[in-house]
Amino acid sequence: TDLAHIRNFSIVAHIDHGKSTLADRLIQQTNTVAERDMKEQMLDSMDIERERGITIKAQTVRINYTALNGEEYVLNLIDTPGHVDFAYEVSRSMRAVEGSLLVVDSTQGVEAQTLANVYTAIDANHEIIPVLNKIDLPATDCERVAEQIEDVIGIDASNAIRVSAKTGQGIIETLEAIITHLPPPKGDASAPLKAMLVDSWYDAYLGVIVLVRIMDGVLKKGDRVRMMQNGSVHQVERIGVFRPAMTVVDQLGPGEIGFITASIKQVRDTKVGDTITHDKAPCAAPLPGFKPSVPVVFCGLFPVDSAEFEDLRDAIEKLALNDASFSSEMETSAALGFGFRCGFLGLLHLEVIRDRIEREYDIELITTAPSVIYNVFMKDGTLLPLHNPADMPDLSTVDHVEEPRIKATILVPDEYLGDVLKLCQDRRGIQQDLTYAGSRAMVVYDLPLNEVVFDFYDRLKSVTKGYASFDYHMTGYRTDNLVKMSILVNDEPVDALSMMVHRDRAEMRGRAMVEKLKDLIPRHMFKIPIQAAIGGKVIARETLSAMRKDVTAKCYGGDATRKKKLLEKQKAGKKKMRQFGKVDIPQEAFISALKMD
Ligand code: GDP
Ligand code: MG
Repeated sequence: TDLAHIRNFSIVAHIDHGKSTLADRLIQQTNTVAERDMKEQMLDSMDIERERGITIKAQTVRINYTALNGEEYVLNLIDTPGHVDFAYEVSRSMRAVEGSLLVVDSTQGVEAQTLANVYTAIDANHEIIPVLNKIDLPATDCERVAEQIEDVIGIDASNAIRVSAKTGQGIIETLEAIITHLPPPKGDASAPLKAMLVDSWYDAYLGVIVLVRIMDGVLKKGDRVRMMQNGSVHQVERIGVFRPAMTVVDQLGPGEIGFITASIKQVRDTKVGDTITHDKAPCAAPLPGFKPSVPVVFCGLFPVDSAEFEDLRDAIEKLALNDASFSSEMETSAALGFGFRCGFLGLLHLEVIRDRIEREYDIELITTAPSVIYNVFMKDGTLLPLHNPADMPDLSTVDHVEEPRIKATILVPDEYLGDVLKLCQDRRGIQQDLTYAGSRAMVVYDLPLNEVVFDFYDRLKSVTKGYASFDYHMTGYRTDNLVKMSILVNDEPVDALSMMVHRDRAEMRGRAMVEKLKDLIPRHMFKIPIQAAIGGKVIARETLSAMRKDVTAKCYGGDATRKKKLLEKQKAGKKKMRQFGKVDIPQEAFISALKMD
């Protein structure tokens, strides 16, 4: 196809504003899929993603559209992952297209996530077409929402297209706007091959599938291509486009988006944002902006039933096949036995993986408290990246500790603003900005990531009854007074319960933790001290008193079967415990004790 008849675009929207429904309508309107094959949400493939309304892998569809001017166009839609954890992946997808539809629910208005993604689109020099969706609903208020788009985002929304992705109203107008308002891609077919690796995933039949956008040159079947980041060379076996089913084509030229397969064994060997070129006649320089994706949040995953350890290993290996940003290594915990220390791009990523292990592989998990990576500067001048609080070296050898910080943007109706400010303040936040757009406040906070990975999002939703939206990105590291708090049960440290805390909050957290544990650990025949300590210093303490008498005593020794039953019951109860020194700690204690409310 000649460049003038190609348009590449993505859709930017907050969750539930109608991105997937609109994509469905565009596909349907252009007869891209036969009516009988049409199912809801063509582009969202995985079940969990569908339920949660999030997309993790970029999905694309190539649409042929005969415009009202009678000419044939090829439209490529890349559906980007919609969540903050995947900000880098989103930025690459945006670089692969020239424009965006900015979809805003006309009954709701602009949300924090819309903002973050639209700024990414602006960064990628996109032409942006505002689309006001859900105009079929009585609560629609296009004037107000258009005004809000102009106020908050600063783009002209006077010609915003009014759409109902549900009824199909405004779909032709949307397609025409794509043709007339978005620029065609640029590129030189005779230049050396330069293609962006937009995304990749593992397919059980075809192996690794790589989504590419050709910038310059032509890519053909049989070509030997080089991934410029790691220098690996592969022979292209298959080349095609998504309609949305995979359809083989002969070649891809400048401006086109499609897939290749090339006997690549692991998704890990393909890096999002990498440049693909011909091995023999490479392009001069790779595309700018490549960043390796590194995990930022870590936690331990242990099977509740230790017999399921091998199953867990299997599940983690399978999931890692398709997810290069998820890392894992084996971990042994004195309290929890064998498990894995896993790294994720963010909390949502963690939740998605954990859910999939529990649901698809049917393994019940204990998740230890999520932790960020601290930079521990030792007195001898070395830097230790700390992924697990249990590995924190002795305080006397540590010079100082840095923690990652984020810039958080929260949009919230006025009446909940006070609660949001309090929450951010409680989490050691520093307010940076507070502005209004109508009756909604937009607050910007500098926060420690550590305080956010815990349960910040849940708390935010609950104090605002779900009306706040939230987005963040990492800004860098800063030194603070951070220490490891250990928990000792019966004078023995329980590694899975140790955590990094700010020194000023250590007493409060320590007290909350030992009080909780006192309720969660059953009484034993002896007294059990439960302590929180920093270094050698105890900062909070509770004592679980001893059981007064043998529970079987009340059976008077007479009723043997009753006594036996009681002992059996105790034994069954024990199975759900972890023996720690002489003390049995129930599984749920590990999860409950770490939750702060
Ligand atoms: P996404 O999270 O942005 O992909 O949003 P979806 O496309 O999944 O839509 C979220 C919800 O809004 C679904 O229940 C849709 O059926 C509904 N929806 C989407 N567009 C419209 C519309 O134009 N009108 C109405 N009434 N509902 C819509
Ligand atoms: Mg969706």
